[in-house]
Amino acid sequence: MATLSGSGGNDTDVLIVGAGPVGLFLAHECARRGLRWRLIEEKAGQSEHSKALAIFPRTMEIFDMADVVGPFLEKANRVTRVEVTSHEKSLAELPFEPGHTPYSFVAMVPQNITEGILAKDLEERGGTIEYETAFVSAQERDGGVEATVDRKGESAVLTASFVVGCDGAHSRVRHGMDVDLEGGDYRQEFMLADIETNEFRPASELLLCPSELGPVVLFPMSATRWRVVATIEEPEGDAPSLELTRKILRERAPAGVEARAVHWSSYFRIHHRHSARLRAGRRFIAGDAAHIHSPFGGQGMNTGLHDVWNLAWKLDLFLRGHGNDALLDSYAAERLPVIRGVIEMTDLMTRGMGTTNKLAQVMRDAVIPTVSHLALFQHAFVQRLSGLGIAYNGSPIVEGLGERYFDESLRGGGIRSRFLLMLGGDVSAEDEGVRMLSTLFPEVLEVRTAQAPGIRLVRPDGYVAYTARRTDGVRTWEALGALLERQTR
Ligand SMILES: Cc1cc2nc3c(=O)[nH]c(=O)nc-3n(C[C@H](O)[C@H](O)[C@H](O)COP(=O)(O)OP(=O)(O)OC[C@H]3O[C@@H](n4cnc5c(N)ncnc54)[C@H](O)[C@@H]3O)c2cc1C
Repeated sequence: MATLSGSGGNDTDVLIVGAGPVGLFLAHECARRGLRWRLIEEKAGQSEHSKALAIFPRTMEIFDMADVVGPFLEKANRVTRVEVTSHEKSLAELPFEPGHTPYSFVAMVPQNITEGILAKDLEERGGTIEYETAFVSAQERDGGVEATVDRKGESAVLTASFVVGCDGAHSRVRHGMDVDLEGGDYRQEFMLADIETNEFRPASELLLCPSELGPVVLFPMSATRWRVVATIEEPEGDAPSLELTRKILRERAPAGVEARAVHWSSYFRIHHRHSARLRAGRRFIAGDAAHIHSPFGGQGMNTGLHDVWNLAWKLDLFLRGHGNDALLDSYAAERLPVIRGVIEMTDLMTRGMGTTNKLAQVMRDAVIPTVSHLALFQHAFVQRLSGLGIAYNGSPIVEGLGERYFDESLRGGGIRSRFLLMLGGDVSAEDEGVRMLSTLFPEVLEVRTAQAPGIRLVRPDGYVAYTARRTDGVRTWEALGALLERQTR
């Protein structure tokens, strides 16, 4: 990949294509950092559909670090238990209350509300979304990208230091980068219906119901509004009817679930695909533009939000002259393994829940009760789904496990694009090494004290880039200096 230089002289710093949740959050993060950004959206307004519901604990922590978590807490229905039920038989009850996080639940927030919260916050920060403006093509030129857009039938050109395609599964930004979504499709058809119902279960429980006809999953949005997702043989009409929803519930769900009205329903097909590259020069892709997977596990939107959380601080540092090409390259190096992991997990869940093979169904229903009781399984299940287990070990800009870091001092939006050098009680801020690092990296490094002994270098996105239980004199400080230099010079 060619080394980049220069970013001045452009109309904007970051051109964001697509005002879905991922594009909105990236715009939010650019606004919070005082970058120049433009957000274009081909539609005339935000989607009114409730598509993605589940917001997992790590995403809530990220919203907290981005200073936008409050409205999500207000709107969320909190789920703390997953029950696997086959007809009237409970196969497993899995608590979903991870420790060591203030967000020990799945926050159920319809996607239109999520987009509304992010759009409102953006507006309050003085930002605008340019609707009815479609990205057409882009051309790399020295120090930037020249993008052609179509604004209500009129063609216009604007220049940006970076273009980020958050333009969904049919991404034109991705096509322009000559990158495909590689992978496959599932044979099955799916239906979704958001229904008005009776209070048949506490709204803190999510129900997974495998059956010989295929699975149905019941997601609580509130006490009397639930989402029904199921495999179907053949679509009937343009959208699933109340009758079809009732039939599916009768055949596959526990008794007593009443479907009284349908608020929104849709058929959909699912895929397991991702692109092999997320960057071409000054163009990046994120969210559904880069990966699409099964809704089992509810990971789609969460993964996209994590993509741009990973990217925003890197673009910021680069634009301010404190980040280099290796830092930009680390976006794909870090996100691709996570994306592959999400696709593997959701694929396993989809195949396990949706198998039509009778023997496999019997084995599944026999194995689930035993395995689900194992503490190790429960821990792994919660760590994977919650996003709390995501780590960037193996990244070229991380030494060690690259695990998540979250404490009180990171909350409320204060870090932006600075690295935090966390000093335990056994290391003085007056230490020669600490002073040397502060002098060498004044723009990107902030020194803070922490409870845990030793030192940690925490990245702007709340992942540990370097850790030492105790300092090993000059060697430790030199290693830290070299790590920072590798990405910021
Ligand atoms: C039925 C259903 C249920 C789901 N449930 C969940 C769930 O529970 N949890 C979860 O995490 N995910 C879920 N998902 C997935 C989730 O909806 C997507 O992952 C999410 O919308 C991706 O966000 P995005 O911003 O990347 O893309 P999108 O939401 O697709 O947004 C892309 C935007 O780009 C715009 N655009 C496209 N082309 C252009 C162009 N050329 N110029 C300008 N603008 C353009 C589009 O109009 C659109 O507004 C679900 C999806 C479906 C369909």
